[in-house]
Amino acid sequence: MSSPTPVRQPRAVERLVVGQPTSDGAGVKLTRVLTQPLQRRLDPFLMLDAFGSDQADDYIAGFPDHPHRGFETVTYMLEGRMRHRDSAGNEGLLDNGGVQWMTAGRGVIHSELPEQEQGRMEGFQLWLNLPARDKMRPAWYRDIPSAEIPEFELDGVTVRVIAGESHGVKGAMQRELTEPVYLDLHMAPGARFEQHLPATHNAFVYVYRGALKFDTGCRVPRERMAILANTPGSDGVALQAGDEPTRVILVAGKPLNEPIAQYGPFVMNTQAELIQAVRDFQEGKLA
Ligand code: MN
Repeated sequence: MSSPTPVRQPRAVERLVVGQPTSDGAGVKLTRVLTQPLQRRLDPFLMLDAFGSDQADDYIAGFPDHPHRGFETVTYMLEGRMRHRDSAGNEGLLDNGGVQWMTAGRGVIHSELPEQEQGRMEGFQLWLNLPARDKMRPAWYRDIPSAEIPEFELDGVTVRVIAGESHGVKGAMQRELTEPVYLDLHMAPGARFEQHLPATHNAFVYVYRGALKFDTGCRVPRERMAILANTPGSDGVALQAGDEPTRVILVAGKPLNEPIAQYGPFVMNTQAELIQAVRDFQEGKLA
C-alpha cells in the first residue's frame, strides 16, 4: 500500500437517489438503485441492483435461464450462496464475500439460483457496459472467491478492491477502456477514506450500513446512492462515516460516450443490433 497523498479538491454530492423496489427473475425482490434513466449520467454503468432479505420467499425463486448480450454483470455476494450455470459450460458457486464477473459478450444464457432455503441473502449486481468493439466478443466468466479479493486497512477503514486500484493496491479485476473502480469500504465510526479519481470519470457511492457525511454538510443515509459531481478540477472523493459503523460501495469508471440501446437483458448501440439480438436468441444462437 502506497502512502496516501491527500485529495485536495474532493467531489461534491450532486444528488441522492432512492432505489426502486422491484422484482426480477422468477420473483426475486430487489431494489433497483441505478435505473435506466441514469445510464447516460453514470456511463459506463448500466444498472445496480441491491438485494438483501432474511425471508427465503424474497429470493428462493432465483433467476432461471435467461440471456444477456453486450455488457458484463458483476455480482458481489455479501452473504448467501448462489449457484451459476451458463450455456458456455461454466458453473460456479458464489458465496459470502465472493464476486462473479461475467462478460456476456455476444451472448450467454445463464441461471442464478440460491443454494440455501433459509437465512440471509444480501449483495449487489452491477452491470458494466462493454465498448462497441467488444460487445460481440465471446462470453467469459470468472469466479472470485472472497479470499482472492485484495484487501487492506487504512485509518479505520477496511478496503476490499474488487476492481481498479486503491492506494497502490490492485483489485481483482481490471478493464482497459472503462477503468472501473469498485471498492467495498467497511468504515469505523467517524473514519475517513479518500480515493483519487479523474474528474471526468463518473462515480457514485451506495450506503448499505450506517451513513456518510460530507464536509459540505450533506448526509447520505443507509440505502441511498449519492451521485458524485464531475466537478472540473476535482481530484477525487473524500468520504467520512457517521457515528456508527458504515459500509458503502464506491463505484467509478471512465464513460464510453457511445449510444446506449437496451431491450431487457440486451444492451447494444443501435435498435438494429437489438433486433438482431432478439432474433439470435429466438434462433438459439446465444447458447
Ligand atoms: Mn443474469
